[in-house]
Amino acid sequence: MLDIQKIRTDFPILSQKVNGKPLVYFDNGATSQKPQIVLDAITKYYSEINANIHRGVHTLSQLATDAYEESRKKIQTHINAKFSHEVLFTSGTTHGINLVTNGFGSILKPGDEVLVSALEHHSNIVPWQMLCEKTGATLKVIPMDENGELIMLEYDKLLSEKTKIVTVNHISNALGTINPIEYMTEKAHEVGAAILIDGAQATPHLKPDVQELDCDFYVFSGHKICGPTGTGILYGKEEWLNKLPPYQGGGEMIKEVTFEKTTYADLPHKFEAGTPNIAGGIVLGVAIDYLNKIGFENIQQQEKELLEYGTKRLLEIDGLKIYGTSKEKTSVISFNIDGIHPYDIGTIIDKQGIAVRTGHHCAQPIMNFFGIPGTIRASFSFYNTKEEIDLMIEAVKKAQRMLS
Ligand SMILES: *Cc1c(COP(=O)(O)O)cnc(C)c1O
Repeated sequence: MLDIQKIRTDFPILSQKVNGKPLVYFDNGATSQKPQIVLDAITKYYSEINANIHRGVHTLSQLATDAYEESRKKIQTHINAKFSHEVLFTSGTTHGINLVTNGFGSILKPGDEVLVSALEHHSNIVPWQMLCEKTGATLKVIPMDENGELIMLEYDKLLSEKTKIVTVNHISNALGTINPIEYMTEKAHEVGAAILIDGAQATPHLKPDVQELDCDFYVFSGHKICGPTGTGILYGKEEWLNKLPPYQGGGEMIKEVTFEKTTYADLPHKFEAGTPNIAGGIVLGVAIDYLNKIGFENIQQQEKELLEYGTKRLLEIDGLKIYGTSKEKTSVISFNIDGIHPYDIGTIIDKQGIAVRTGHHCAQPIMNFFGIPGTIRASFSFYNTKEEIDLMIEAVKKAQRMLS
């Protein structure tokens, strides 16, 4: 078992007071907190080896380049990619998805179909809509049921030889549903379609194995896995990355430039134009090391207990309804209380130091499905405790008394 109190001391922000109360941070679905080792690594990079990468022959530039490329290899191992050049640094999940949709702009034709799930974050909906508008392809939606689970029978029916790509999150940020991505990948491949998995909510809880999943693209954000903001990864199968055109033009992504013609650099540099977030990329590797040291089995065990305990305690509250009741879910609880706007609860419990997310969670179609303006979302991390859940329950009860 994890020594949670000891782990909490790794995170300086967790011992802060907010509004005069000890911080209870339950907004991990939006971003995770950062351990000291990550903060130190940022300072260390800038105070010891800061230089531009892949350019100079001077010592610092080589140290920075080596550290950046070592981090790429570390991430390759973490997600079990076949080649390190299949691991692209991005500024986050949104960037990764846009890189892929931009590439598909030169592949899709009118009449082609893109399947997107009803459970998606806006960043995995809007770029595909833009792509369809540009190419004349059609966007089709894989529907969900009342539990917040995608309906596989409907998915099977939507798939056809017209389907060129399927896009789905591994885990829903709004409801916590774990989607059957192995099945979905297999089925997509049967009709010759590619599949992109949005792993932004999965990577904080598990270690994806992209070769075993056999997905064509897998994207995630560094800031949700204890790393810095403005970092992320796009994994793409080599054959796909070779097929897609570059996303941005600029320095670093070329082999040779003349005014007549430019040839592009090999992977991964073809997709990494300009000076990247060097410190961020290096420190993302440090964050991943930190999580692996804690161990994903331990993380899952702790989060499972928090999910069970939090669900049980919340359901003690009169008129409280939980959205997202899939059998397979992570430590995210989305809820509402009869007759009270989620925003009002969120505001009142913030005064008690409790940080939760309220609103549509960048997933308005899910809120429309349930016919609600939004929910209150408590998303737990391995560094949270049952005592913190008790504090939230007290605060929510108090808010309910004040508002009804
Ligand atoms: C957070 C999130 C995103 C967007 O990630 P950014 O870091 O904002 O780019 C996309 N999809 C899901 C499921 C998310 O949780």
